[in-house]
Amino acid sequence: MQHTGFKDGLRVFDSLRSGVEYTLNRKESFYFNYRVTPLNFRKRSIRVFDQFVDLPGLSCSCTDFKINDGFLFPKNSLSKMCKHLLKSLLQFADLSRLDFLIIEQTFKFGFEKYIKEEIGNTKVLFGITGLNELRWVNVYLYSIQGENANRFSYNIPENRWAFGGKPDNAELIEKCLKYRLNKIATV
Ligand SMILES: [Zn+2]
Repeated sequence: MQHTGFKDGLRVFDSLRSGVEYTLNRKESFYFNYRVTPLNFRKRSIRVFDQFVDLPGLSCSCTDFKINDGFLFPKNSLSKMCKHLLKSLLQFADLSRLDFLIIEQTFKFGFEKYIKEEIGNTKVLFGITGLNELRWVNVYLYSIQGENANRFSYNIPENRWAFGGKPDNAELIEKCLKYRLNKIATV
């Protein structure tokens, strides 16, 4: 793929693969034009359980949202979102697969804390609801852009995967998860 222009004297590439190929062939650096795709909403304002949700504004008229809408979290943080917003996003936003799984999890079971990991070529996100009575951990395996993602669940005390789902590299993922949890637990 051709470069799309120049920035600061460097050739601009929209594709990371093409940029890397160019660098390898020509021994010159390049500028990567990283683009975040804006979310596309199939509806803009919705009434959910008697509250008004403004989807592009990511805001809601309910008390939960107003309480969380302080300075503690960045504007688009998941921690700010009330049930109404989460429900509306699941229904009316074109989310990547990873975003969908995370928002669905939050809507049904509440917030998780996430530990990011890379195991070989695989990107992994461990979703943990709390260290007290820790039983199930969600394990998300995903591609860089998050468009492909799978969720598995692992039971810590029983050392087993939820029925019907065991990822490739399961043993390696288990080891890595236990190592990370031990580190947190001993801090
Ligand atoms: Zn709300």
